Amino acid sequence: MTDVAWDTATKKLFGAVGKNNFSTWIEPLDFRGVQDNVVTFGVPTSFFGNYVRQNFAEKILESLNIAGLPTSRISFELLNERSVSKAPIAQDIQPKAASDRSALKGAKLDARFKFDNFVVGKPNELAHAAAKRVSEGRDVTFNPLFLYGGVGLGKTHLMHAIAWELGERQPDINVMYLSAEQFMYRFVQALRERKMMDFKELFRSVDVLMVDDVQFIAGKDSTQEEFFHTFNALVDQNKQIIISADRAPGEIKDLEDRIASRLQCGLVVDLHPTTYELRLGILQSKIEMYQESYPGIELGRDVVEFLAHRIATNVRILEGALTRLFAFASLVNREITIELTKDCLSDILRASDRKVTVEEIQRKVSDHYNIRLSDMLGPKRLRTFARPRQIAMYLCKQMTTRSLPEIGRRFGGRDHTTVMHGVRRIEDLKDKDNQIAEDIQLLRRSLEG
Ligand code: ADP
Ligand code: MG
Repeated sequence: MTDVAWDTATKKLFGAVGKNNFSTWIEPLDFRGVQDNVVTFGVPTSFFGNYVRQNFAEKILESLNIAGLPTSRISFELLNERSVSKAPIAQDIQPKAASDRSALKGAKLDARFKFDNFVVGKPNELAHAAAKRVSEGRDVTFNPLFLYGGVGLGKTHLMHAIAWELGERQPDINVMYLSAEQFMYRFVQALRERKMMDFKELFRSVDVLMVDDVQFIAGKDSTQEEFFHTFNALVDQNKQIIISADRAPGEIKDLEDRIASRLQCGLVVDLHPTTYELRLGILQSKIEMYQESYPGIELGRDVVEFLAHRIATNVRILEGALTRLFAFASLVNREITIELTKDCLSDILRASDRKVTVEEIQRKVSDHYNIRLSDMLGPKRLRTFARPRQIAMYLCKQMTTRSLPEIGRRFGGRDHTTVMHGVRRIEDLKDKDNQIAEDIQLLRRSLEG
């Protein structure tokens, strides 16, 4: 049975590529079978396929051969072709409102913000699952759904995705999406034009109300008051409400207690800062999109990893970086190397530098390996101390702007050549020793986070 051979092969691959690569690149491969010595896998995107081909093809073929399945070439098919191709929805068409009162329109929905384009990972899986559930529009189980998290982590994207999905599934219902700021603006306008009755009626007639960035109304007393009434009226009618904010309800300063406590009645889920794996996934899916507009421009694995490491947390900035990189590369008509990336994105990279200090690195590394800081900095040459010391030096070189002599001074006054030797040793080992590669990634991530 060929599936069994693939099972065996994956076990071998796990050891060969390491845990992270395995879960990012090997696990998602959908084994389709082997014909004429060609093994075929289903992949989510063609970028994914290219990446796997460039980086893991040999290992995959080798492990299949060892598992008893002779193969010499690898080919890819796109998974669910249909959902990848563009849905026949024109840009910026709103989910239909049942009534023709044009005033019912909320804010415009962004055509890119759909579930299809949302990359799910550990930090956002709960928020995504809750959003998905609500978008099915069946019974109102969580009311309100309250999504919160830092800037650029996907709150607005998820809300638009819910609105799109509801609009497709149930074209007859009134879905209103707007920012808290727009809510206030309309409220003030209604007051000024003496149309409060219309305003109330309008908001009480929607089936699903979504208010984005609700922290905005904190401290704005009459808007809060009106929002509270609208909210209660809709909840009483069992209408779904979805709210987002930059922090948890109880932590929004100057938000009335009674509002905060009502907001907590439903399901409160947070979007955590992105992880390295999620950033890789997001980059991969965006690169795929950009390659449609910029055919022929490729991003090497080293560049993708560099971006995922260096631009942590905020996805909007990550996206901006990618846009600029593609535009720049197409202008200068050059291959995108790390050097080009650094040049082109120097301001973004500088701004998102975490400013990790040598001391932090030393502390983290000694904790990780369970050795005393004094032993790491001291003169002992035992491998138990020397290896962590070299790893710490390597991380200092990678993650701080300190020069080799400066790093040497902070490691118990060592010479810069010692530091250089240590850094090289780790660079070398990193490619050969999975354990070390993994340790470094773990440390790096926790230092970045
Ligand atoms: P927020 O509202 O939380 O500040 P947004 O929803 O506006 O953040 O997201 C910022 C940008 O990042 C958007 O372009 C969005 O499409 C993108 N983005 C955020 N998270 C993801 C994700 N998980 N997958 C794909 N794109 C994402
Ligand atoms: Mg937003």
